[in-house]
Amino acid sequence: MDTDVYHVLLSDCLLAVVLFGLFWYVANLSRSLRGIVTWGSAHLIYTLGATMLDAFAPALAQSGRTAAAWYAVNVGTLLACAGMMGLAWSIIQFAHQRALSRIELALMPFAIALSLLAWALRGTTDAQGIALSTVEVTALCLMIWHLRAVRESPGRLPARLMMAGCAALVLLYGSVAPGWIGGEFGIDPIWVSADLSIWFMLNFCMLMLTSLRAAESLRHGAMHDVLTGLLNRRGLDTELQNRIDRMPTDAALAVIAMDLDRFKSINDRHGHATGDAVLQSFATAVQSCLQGQGLFARLGGEEFVVLLIGPDASMAPLLAERIRERVAGASFPMPEAYGVSVSIGVCQGGSLRDPFADLLRTADQALYDAKRGGRDRVALRQWQYAG
Ligand code: GH3
Ligand code: MG
Ligand code: MG
Repeated sequence: MDTDVYHVLLSDCLLAVVLFGLFWYVANLSRSLRGIVTWGSAHLIYTLGATMLDAFAPALAQSGRTAAAWYAVNVGTLLACAGMMGLAWSIIQFAHQRALSRIELALMPFAIALSLLAWALRGTTDAQGIALSTVEVTALCLMIWHLRAVRESPGRLPARLMMAGCAALVLLYGSVAPGWIGGEFGIDPIWVSADLSIWFMLNFCMLMLTSLRAAESLRHGAMHDVLTGLLNRRGLDTELQNRIDRMPTDAALAVIAMDLDRFKSINDRHGHATGDAVLQSFATAVQSCLQGQGLFARLGGEEFVVLLIGPDASMAPLLAERIRERVAGASFPMPEAYGVSVSIGVCQGGSLRDPFADLLRTADQALYDAKRGGRDRVALRQWQYAG
């Protein structure tokens, strides 16, 4: 065994410990990082197993301690198999943000059973090599397959790099498998450095993917309302600015302002929790009318707004009336029959170049017209540019 390789493998173990700490730290930043602690711990276990197998076992064998070397080979194989399957588990959890299926869970006992079978055969070290290569290639192929699910930018690039890295490892591990047969432990330094470089890249990409996802979940939290999941005021401003940047400035913009009628009395009669459930049902009812059209946001309390941009803007009065009817006819989660209604103000005739705050104010004025007119109705106001 080359002593350089021995030291490289030991420092790889230290790096795996540091990486585990980093993954654990990042996982605590966001709940949307399912699978990350699994990655950190599985990588650590895999690295420990590989080091026992590739560094300790040959060193022990060279110093004549064959029984200890044999033990190191078997424990190393067991750890490496479990770690490798853990890495596949982690990619499945991370890519889909879901729990593992029964079949996926069963892959771990399969990997462990394979390494124990090799141990039980008690023959040469061939069986351990074959067991480990089989598990490695299976787990890497699973990782490539599931990383396909990370399609959205900016995570796409690191995910694609990881797929390339896994494919390179499949070739590397697949190509050494025949060498195990009748071969000896102890590995070519070039092979080791290629292997370590690829693992370094995989870990680097995984850290990048998790950081990007943590940042995305913080950004999503800052732009959305927790209760309804709709855009909040900041989110609405950001989305509107995106449209302004992309579309012609004379594109039409209609604003529909909505406020639930006598909402305070719903809270007073049935409690805040029921009030919250009514707000959620209201958001769902409006979304079913919009069918993906326009931007829908909760500005605060029981005040909501819909922006219709471009050709859709001319539909605003019709859509407002449809929303009013849908809400008046919907059943809301309340202990007793209690009519929920909404008053709506529409500002028509604006465009993307007009100051949004003024368009919103005009829609609000129309909304107060509707309230004054007796509630549960739609009122229209025409936008007039004051210059
Ligand atoms: P109007 O018909 O004039 O609009 O009467 P209203 O009772 O709906 O109007 P008001 O603005 O006086 O009351 C709004 C209430 O909305 C007061 C506040 O307690 C309640 N509210 C604001 N935010 C929330 C929330 O997130 N959840 C619940 N349950 N209630 C909220
Ligand atoms: Mg109200
Ligand atoms: Mg209000």
